[in-house]
Amino acid sequence: LVVLPLVLRLSRNIERPLTGLAAYARELHDTRYAAACPVARSDDLPREVAELREAFCQMAGEIRSYVDEVERISVEDALTGLYNRRFLFSGGRKLLEASLRAQRPCACLMLDVDHFKVVNDTYGHAAGDRVLAHLARVLVGCVRKSDLAARYGGEEFAVLLTGATAVQAAALAARICTALAGNPCRIDDTFLSVTISIGVAEARERVEYGENALEDMLARADKALYAAKAAGRDRVAIDGAE
Ligand code: GH3
Ligand code: MG
Ligand code: MG
Repeated sequence: LVVLPLVLRLSRNIERPLTGLAAYARELHDTRYAAACPVARSDDLPREVAELREAFCQMAGEIRSYVDEVERISVEDALTGLYNRRFLFSGGRKLLEASLRAQRPCACLMLDVDHFKVVNDTYGHAAGDRVLAHLARVLVGCVRKSDLAARYGGEEFAVLLTGATAVQAAALAARICTALAGNPCRIDDTFLSVTISIGVAEARERVEYGENALEDMLARADKALYAAKAAGRDRVAIDGAE
């Protein structure tokens, strides 16, 4: 009779935190490791249970930061910090579908650095890399947070602009060219100026190229980009306006 209440109390002291940890484990799973460790009343926990809770919460925190890191790396271009091509197609498709559903315009830019091979050949590949990172910063400074700026590959970039028509997108493209002209890339004591050509296209539901509206819009912007190149580079061309 004397020992039984003590045993019951001890078992409750062990069972309650373990039940809490089990619930936390389920919550971690449901929230993809975003759930915060439950507040502990460790003063009345047995030492071993407190240590178990501590280790479990620490492990969950580490898994969360690995998940964050992997998620970031999987969508980010390592050189420029912009979104990568993979995210352009996955995130971009969702963005575009939402725009079309809401009957809002959506446009895109395809940018390509002019004569970039000459930059590499003259100043070296490392300088070329810095020029690309610089261009990405200029680009980010020109677009809105809701826009999606990505490195398409090599010295080519794509920007999706939600709520913008082709004409508005072309105005932004011209502003990007001007911003870049007024902000050359500084490498030691050298200021390196590059120009870019930009193709612009607006989304439409009827698909001519590729499998969906995004692929179609990017392909038309790419076609316009090549028209801008053919017309002399350092300029903007709109799809269908050639
Ligand atoms: P154009 O005006 O016709 O676009 O000429 P361009 O020289 O820019 O085009 P081209 O396709 O001939 O050359 C692109 C160059 O971009 C060649 C390639 O080595 C370089 N490039 C691609 N990716 C990178 C990169 O990540 N870093 C550096 N430094 N150079 C790159
Ligand atoms: Mg190119
Ligand atoms: Mg180029």
